[in-house]
Amino acid sequence: MAFLPRSRPSALSSIFRQLCPRCRSGRIFQSNVSWGIDWGVYWGFPKMNDRCPDCGLLFNREPGYFLGAMYISYGLGVALVFAFGAILWVLTHWRFNKVAIWAVVFFLPFAPMLTFLSRVLWIYLDQTIDPETE
Ligand SMILES: [Zn+2]
Repeated sequence: MAFLPRSRPSALSSIFRQLCPRCRSGRIFQSNVSWGIDWGVYWGFPKMNDRCPDCGLLFNREPGYFLGAMYISYGLGVALVFAFGAILWVLTHWRFNKVAIWAVVFFLPFAPMLTFLSRVLWIYLDQTIDPETE
């Protein structure tokens, strides 16, 4: 593996801080989308930067680019609902219908964060498979 500058954060850390996959210092979103802490995410979709403010990497590469992020969002959403459902069932032993409904209710507050996370993951996945070399 190449020698990286000591200040370069890890990919996982950069994903959760919504930083550019190439330079890992420029922000993908114009305002910081904190996971569950910034309640502003419930009042509107935060604006994304078209390009990385630091290295100029194009985030929205083509029209409909973030359609692929919906698949990631769906997968993460289903996994989270199942996790909540499993926890509820273990703790309460309710009927399936009641567990399913409450698992979805517990999931709903996390839906906006999953949308942002899935977009960031999509950009990272795309840059891993097909890096922009500009
Ligand atoms: Zn960058």
